[in-house]
Amino acid sequence: MDLAERIRNLPPYLFAELDRKIAKKREEGVDIISFGVGDPDIPTPEHIIHAACEAAKRPENHRYPSYEGMISFREAVAERFKRDYNVELKAESEVITLIGSKEGIHNIHLAFINLDDYVLYSSPGYPVYKTGPIFAGGKPYAMPLKKENNFLPELEAIPEDVARKAKLMWINYPNNPTSAVAELDFYREVVDFARDYDIIVCSDEAYSGIAFDNYKIKSFLEIDEAREVGIVIDSLSKTYNMAGWRIAYAAGNEDVISGLGRVKTNVDSGASQIIQEAGIAALIDHQDSVRKNVEIYQKRRDLLYNGLEKLGIWCQKPKATFYLWAEVEDGNSLSFADKLLEAGVVVTPGIGFGNDGEGYVRFALTQDVERIHEALERIKKVL
Ligand SMILES: *Cc1c(COP(=O)(O)O)cnc(C)c1O
Repeated sequence: MDLAERIRNLPPYLFAELDRKIAKKREEGVDIISFGVGDPDIPTPEHIIHAACEAAKRPENHRYPSYEGMISFREAVAERFKRDYNVELKAESEVITLIGSKEGIHNIHLAFINLDDYVLYSSPGYPVYKTGPIFAGGKPYAMPLKKENNFLPELEAIPEDVARKAKLMWINYPNNPTSAVAELDFYREVVDFARDYDIIVCSDEAYSGIAFDNYKIKSFLEIDEAREVGIVIDSLSKTYNMAGWRIAYAAGNEDVISGLGRVKTNVDSGASQIIQEAGIAALIDHQDSVRKNVEIYQKRRDLLYNGLEKLGIWCQKPKATFYLWAEVEDGNSLSFADKLLEAGVVVTPGIGFGNDGEGYVRFALTQDVERIHEALERIKKVL
């Protein structure tokens, strides 16, 4: 069977070989401690589950939802932006419900990218920033995130002709995989750049609810003119431990939101209202569960960070996200990951996030403290 060119042109799945090795270890009976996947291990809070159960009983929720999402869910998003950033959003025209943010990240390219349009994306990064443009016939162009720039892209380094051909830009803070954060001066710089070159900015803020030591996460939409040039995409997956529910949203520029909506009317039939009801509870009820979550991640972060430091492994202490981006001494992330796997510890080699990720491995803080202790003991032995 001949695959379409657009599939054949996708970058190879670099984790396939690693997955195979992990499966083999498991078969051999090795106890695996995995820091590999960015999938929260803590259950969804009880009050959110309760809201879904109640919503499931109501017949109006058994019918097709609207493609743009329930107005009550979109109002909850607006309320959340007012509460957390003091940003006013028009729920009707400036917010759309997504079936998980991955869906929106992919679909937005279908709305705005023509053949050979450039899409600027931060690298290392979430793989869909690169595959989305390829599906749409566009050209992904990497903006490297380097330690010396605090893992922020260097906009001045983008060649003039590329900037002129660029139609869309992806930024992501707090960042996966580097755990870097962005301040308002960076967002202002992005807005100015986007206005100069007429570029749509998509700010993926999937980790907007996970910050440590009372650090206050900023949003791209806090810049007054941001709404002229772009949107925020945010997800409930990480903040509310809802990865399996598939619920997220896009908010900001109404033409961008409406373009995305045009694609969605033709591709899906909207997010389940039962899930949106759960999402409303998550976004606007008390945020105690988020605080508890963050406390758990913070304990894990401290333990792992201090442990790695003692072993001579450098990483920046994360202010946000649940990742540690650790530098590999000899720069070879695949061989380092292999070495740890010998001890039954799984980490993600940075090169899997693109060439700019080489030299690092990512630890996801999705193991409890006992397992982190155990993993540190094992790492010490193999190094
Ligand atoms: C987890 C993650 C997503 C995907 O979130 P879903 O809403 O579950 O699809 C998007 N972007 C980044 C950077 C992520 O880490």
